Amino acid sequence: MSGKIYVVATPIGNLGDLTPRIRRAFEEADFIAAEDTRVSVKLLNHFGIKKPLVSYYEHNLKQKGDYIISRVLAGETCAVCSDAGTPCISDPGEILVKQAHRAGIQLVPIPGPSAVITALCVSGQDTGRFCFEGFLSTVKKQRLEHLNGLKEEKRTMIFYEAPHKLLNTLRDFETFFGRERPMTIARELTKLHEEIKLTTVGRALEYYSANPPKGEFVLVLSGRPEVQRQTQSLEEVAQSCLDLAKRENLSLSDAAKQVCAKTPFGKSEVYKAAMKLKEERRQ
Ligand code: SAM
Repeated sequence: MSGKIYVVATPIGNLGDLTPRIRRAFEEADFIAAEDTRVSVKLLNHFGIKKPLVSYYEHNLKQKGDYIISRVLAGETCAVCSDAGTPCISDPGEILVKQAHRAGIQLVPIPGPSAVITALCVSGQDTGRFCFEGFLSTVKKQRLEHLNGLKEEKRTMIFYEAPHKLLNTLRDFETFFGRERPMTIARELTKLHEEIKLTTVGRALEYYSANPPKGEFVLVLSGRPEVQRQTQSLEEVAQSCLDLAKRENLSLSDAAKQVCAKTPFGKSEVYKAAMKLKEERRQ
């Protein structure tokens, strides 16, 4: 009979978050598949658990996945974990879980910390509907495509970010979502220097330009506000577009591009409405 795979969450910075079930899953496993065995061995040593470790990380997923599945099919039980938090969430595990389903292996989730939910629950942003966006790509084209696809997103958006990329990401947020968009920056969650800042994209940019970012970050960005659609009609936005074009000597198309960024309307929608308004005035 085949064994099973425990998918085990581990603390994201505070060993106090290690639950009895997490500990028991490690104790029951015949072997542990860990993202970085040097990191996981420290956690296991802390609790006096000694188990054979298999490294399972980004660059050996296929080969090690097959190996893990074959051992489990032969009757062993595996606990899979990442360096911190929940496996499969911007961490290895997803492919192994899919392989296990295909092989008919029982999967047992052992829930615990994940930075995405830990940040969201204290963010002060809407929590009813949200989407997890993980890390933005370091490849500019992919990053900009990703953000462009989120311009209309109304749900709260959650991103992971490394400190050295934070400023760049905030600049991209400014371009795609505007300076006034509310956001929460959650830093070093569950650790000694935990910080939860309810702010805006513009204020965060100013703050971190003056204070170089350090530690681990989760960015919780408010979705596109509904309220603007109610407070500003398309006709009013079209009028602002005409005013801006006249004042700054811009083409209507360029003015529409600038004006629409702060509204719920798209560029071509604003452009067409402004053209219509202009025509009506001529008649
Ligand atoms: N699987 C993990 C989880 O469930 O949260 C995430 C792993 S991902 C490789 C690491 C990223 O998660 C970090 O770069 C950071 O964005 C976020 N993160 C992890 N721990 C954190 C913490 N204590 N405080 C803030 N962000 C954290």
